[in-house]
Amino acid sequence: MTTACPICKKPAELKFRPFCSSRCANVDLQRWLSGSYVLPGDELEDEDVADLDRGA
Ligand SMILES: [Zn+2]
Repeated sequence: MTTACPICKKPAELKFRPFCSSRCANVDLQRWLSGSYVLPGDELEDEDVADLDRGA
């Protein structure tokens, strides 16, 4: 059974179902967050993520 990625219409990967990649999953998430579901004042803090990424 093949599912088309709702973002780019490529065949979906099992790993990222129903999307073809983590990128498309993120695109959909961003759409969803910026659309009907808005969290006032609860933004992701990029600096925190960068700190974690950098490690020790
Ligand atoms: Zn896709």
